[in-house]
Amino acid sequence: MTSVDTATIFDIQRFSIHDGPGIRTTVFFKGCTMNCRWCQNPESIRPGKEMAVYVDRCIGCGMCGHVCPTGAIPADRPGRIDWRICDSCGLCAETCPAEALVLVGRTITADDLLDDCLADRSFYNVSGGGVTLSGGEPVMQSDFLRGFLPLLREEHVSVLLETAGNYAYSKIDALLPMLDHIYYDFKLPGPEEYRTMTGGDRELILENLAALKKGTVPVTVRMPVLPGINTAPEQIARIGRTLRSIGIHEMQLLPYNPFWESKLPRLQTEKRPLMLSDKNIDYRHIADALEQIGIAAQFPARHPGTQDAL
Ligand code: SF4
Ligand code: SF4
Repeated sequence: MTSVDTATIFDIQRFSIHDGPGIRTTVFFKGCTMNCRWCQNPESIRPGKEMAVYVDRCIGCGMCGHVCPTGAIPADRPGRIDWRICDSCGLCAETCPAEALVLVGRTITADDLLDDCLADRSFYNVSGGGVTLSGGEPVMQSDFLRGFLPLLREEHVSVLLETAGNYAYSKIDALLPMLDHIYYDFKLPGPEEYRTMTGGDRELILENLAALKKGTVPVTVRMPVLPGINTAPEQIARIGRTLRSIGIHEMQLLPYNPFWESKLPRLQTEKRPLMLSDKNIDYRHIADALEQIGIAAQFPARHPGTQDAL
């Protein structure tokens, strides 16, 4: 395996206080090995660049159709992309005077990403912060990270990885010497739920978590609270017992954030809103149920790893 010099990311969020300790720079990597029905960043799933369309911003000038090299924007439908033809070149986004078309994703070199991260080093130093790798699934770009993370190490910048664990262990194993903390998501009670709701392999995810727990990098397990999907008492108990069986004694509960649903109409996606509401969720009740199994649960103020730019 050789490292690669560039990554595809879709955002860099500075001054983040929700993605680990202190003040952090969160880098959102594009591409994921799963496709969770409730994904907070649906624009992260595809590995390559893609277009997003804000129909309400379009002023109908037709300039996008003039520059499109593939004919994906017909003259009689300005601002409407035929996804079957679009190759995500981004020319229309560059031309649009109303910012109705946005190219999601960009290629960045390791040196440029390092410069972006080091711009906030003084904030890391005073707050105990650092860089958070988020996504998407950052480990999908492990060939890039194997070249990039040593650069952060040389600069003594702390690195936290947010991951869902659905990949061969060798992908993350190579990164461990350069990580200071891992946030690891465990989402659902059974393999069938995992497969149908996320496309992920529960057994693989669990095996990887168990292996990471035996290592030296601290691992914080997190569970997104999904009302009606993983909140029934028997589901909570099953998740708790599973985690307890591999030596997990504490975890974080992530509050459900429906913000992602507003992104869907802007993307080429088959995803549908889940219409979940956490209004009736008793987080204390869930935490108490986990505590009875021997797991102390905390819940942060909002869902980390959420990119707000789209
Ligand atoms: S991204 Fe490129 S191919 Fe796609 S609609 Fe815009 S100009 Fe055409
Ligand atoms: S260039 Fe922008 S504002 Fe003009 S028609 Fe295309 S999307 Fe609409």
